[in-house]
Amino acid sequence: MEFMDNCYIGIDIGGMSIKGVVISPEGNILAENSVVTGVEGGKEQVCANIVWLVNELRKAVDDYKPIGIGIGCPGIIDSKNGVVVFAANLNFNNVPLAHMVGEQVGLPVRMTNDANAAALGEATFGAGKIYRNSVLVTLGTGVGGGIIIDDCLFEGFKSAGAEIGHMIIVKDGLPCTCGNRGCFEAYSSASAIIKKTAEEMKAHPESAMWKTYTPETVNGKTAFEYWDSDQTAADVLEWYLDHLAVGLVNLANIFRPQVIMIGGGISKEGDRLVNPLQKRVDAMLFAGSDYAPVKVVKATLGNQAGAFGAAALVM
Ligand SMILES: [Zn+2]
Repeated sequence: MEFMDNCYIGIDIGGMSIKGVVISPEGNILAENSVVTGVEGGKEQVCANIVWLVNELRKAVDDYKPIGIGIGCPGIIDSKNGVVVFAANLNFNNVPLAHMVGEQVGLPVRMTNDANAAALGEATFGAGKIYRNSVLVTLGTGVGGGIIIDDCLFEGFKSAGAEIGHMIIVKDGLPCTCGNRGCFEAYSSASAIIKKTAEEMKAHPESAMWKTYTPETVNGKTAFEYWDSDQTAADVLEWYLDHLAVGLVNLANIFRPQVIMIGGGISKEGDRLVNPLQKRVDAMLFAGSDYAPVKVVKATLGNQAGAFGAAALVM
């Protein structure tokens, strides 16, 4: 029999589309494809779409031997049993997705939540590749992320932990989508900076941001654009970076990772975001940053991190 190289399939389920990649043991992309999620068709349709995607990917790499399929899925995932306990945007309740997919494709299937998958992706193939201990913090609509300890994903009891965005950083603070107040997410997400920018514009009619934006059209980049030329924008960023840094220092002091990787839309600001965060983290880090420094870096895999990490689940 002819010798075939192994490959690993990673599936990243989003509310609108499902992304799939096939990667080699070295982390090279051998094939990629996507399909609509099809939430309106229910769990059978979503499962059928995943199976279709897996079959297309397998056809594209038929001289490789697929070892297994990893799935990153939004919501609360029982990763031990491969069950989607609850996923609001998929309208899933207790769906044994790993079993449903595995039965039809004849390969082992492992699952984790999408934020954890992204963290594992960055830790295995991206910005955390050279470190054994890393934390990913994704600054998007919400704040997600994951924790890697000694090269292993930390998920907590019944995989319900590592909810970085809901660590409370301000008692009785801003309301969060989860129902609590003062969550990291309420201060550090892209939504949070957009809301703050709009509020400060309204309070400061003299702000230069009014030249090109209204409180209705501001986005996550607005304050960064005007950082050097407008005091209101600078104040927004001071507020944003200060709160973001508090969350990062908490993570750094609890887990003492070698690196905190920043992903999501806001991370596109690159050094302009990362450098001031590094300064703040260094200043607040327990016992200082000489003995066991914690680097703050930009994540490198972008929206492919989830699919890469899903594949890493079966490596
Ligand atoms: Zn919350």
